[in-house]
Amino acid sequence: MTLRARFTLFTVFWLIFILILYNIFVYFFVIRVTTRGELQLLANKADLVVEALRKQGMSRYDDPKLLTDMYNANEMLRIVLKDKGVVNKVGIDKELLNLPLGNPSALKSESLQVNGQRIIFLTVPLYEDGTLVGAVEGARRLTVLDSYIQILVSVLAATSAGAIVVAIFGTYWFTSRMTGPISQMVQTMREIDRSGKLHRVKLNGREESVELQQLVRAFNEMIDRLDRTIEHQKQFVADASHELKTPLTVIGSYADMLKRWGRDNEAVRDEAIEAIGKETERLQKLTRSMLTLAEAEQDDWVSVSRFNVTSVVKELAEMLGTTFARDIRVHSSNQSVPMRGDKDKIRQLLLILIDNAIKYSKEPIDVRVRQDKTGVKLEVTDYGIGIPEGEIPYLFERFYRVDSARHRLTGGSGLGLSIAKRIIDLHEGSVDVFSKPSSGTTISIHFPRTL
Ligand code: ATP
Ligand code: MG
Repeated sequence: MTLRARFTLFTVFWLIFILILYNIFVYFFVIRVTTRGELQLLANKADLVVEALRKQGMSRYDDPKLLTDMYNANEMLRIVLKDKGVVNKVGIDKELLNLPLGNPSALKSESLQVNGQRIIFLTVPLYEDGTLVGAVEGARRLTVLDSYIQILVSVLAATSAGAIVVAIFGTYWFTSRMTGPISQMVQTMREIDRSGKLHRVKLNGREESVELQQLVRAFNEMIDRLDRTIEHQKQFVADASHELKTPLTVIGSYADMLKRWGRDNEAVRDEAIEAIGKETERLQKLTRSMLTLAEAEQDDWVSVSRFNVTSVVKELAEMLGTTFARDIRVHSSNQSVPMRGDKDKIRQLLLILIDNAIKYSKEPIDVRVRQDKTGVKLEVTDYGIGIPEGEIPYLFERFYRVDSARHRLTGGSGLGLSIAKRIIDLHEGSVDVFSKPSSGTTISIHFPRTL
């Protein structure tokens, strides 16, 4: 069932329920109040008759003057004696006159239905010297009252029906307005599903409720984010293909060369084998980096433990120093600097930074580990070629290299620092780059204290 139908049904159901209660209350209240008025009239007359009888010493019950003064077309009055029955009566309505005698012993009023018409019947007991002798009985038709009640019922029915119709249309209109943006969003989603293109939902200026505005805004933000992610992916695929193309072209041309002249010319053969080997290595490195980046997108990429950063740095510096025959100096504020994080990923991060420092400098390299109240600071400083200031903001972008021509020699793919950035982000750290062309670079990373 649609939200609109449910809302309309709900409102109408409650409205009908409330109207029924209200109408019942009004109906019975009006009947009660008016009947009481009629009864009062009759009671007054009966009282007058009793009063007159008392004045004439409780005798001459059959005196016609007693009752004729009170005569009314819709009424009947009679005096009933216990032993003689009806001794005096007035009225022209046969039905009223033929009403069965009441019980004279108590003052009593009741409402009767005779041939579908309401009648009130009253009995006032008569006492003579303290003993019950009979009663004055009166009856009155409620014809006028009944016609008023009929009008009241029709008015109540008409207003209730009107209210329900207005409620149905009102709720329907209101919910249409309310659910409009939702159906618009559903339409947009279907359109996205059908065409494969992302669209935002447009709010057409009308003043919608805050919640709906928030819903539409959240939806649009999600679309924007998806849009950016898809754009990012496209860019990545384009860049990756471009990066893969160059080594593959080189390998292809050398293979051609080998085919043509490789058999006879030893120099050509050696050159080709050497080049193919190098490019293959570059391709391997590139695909490895790309795989790492893909893995790094997953949330469970890091597995957190507590470890000593200084020992990781020292061990890595020694290993790289020996491998590349470079002087890598480690300065640590403490023998042991504890940190919570993924040990392997922090090692990988340091490897990326020291690898850059080795590649882009010839001087010794300084690695600093410092611990303070706010957390752990890692710094890798080299005294090499440096980075122009304008390039620093782009360093962490995928495939970004400061001078791509230069990197055909150093063999970088431009993915190292983007992997580094991902590791820093996953550890909620921050990074700063200080660099000056031809005097060196410092990359400084801060990890907040996590206990
Ligand atoms: P990869 O690390 O994937 O093998 P790469 O070293 O070229 O390749 P990144 O580590 O991401 O890529 O670095 C991006 C670019 O930033 C490098 O190409 C280089 O131009 C510049 N760069 C990074 N570190 C330094 C540094 N210490 N000194 C000078 N330039 C640097
Ligand atoms: Mg690098």
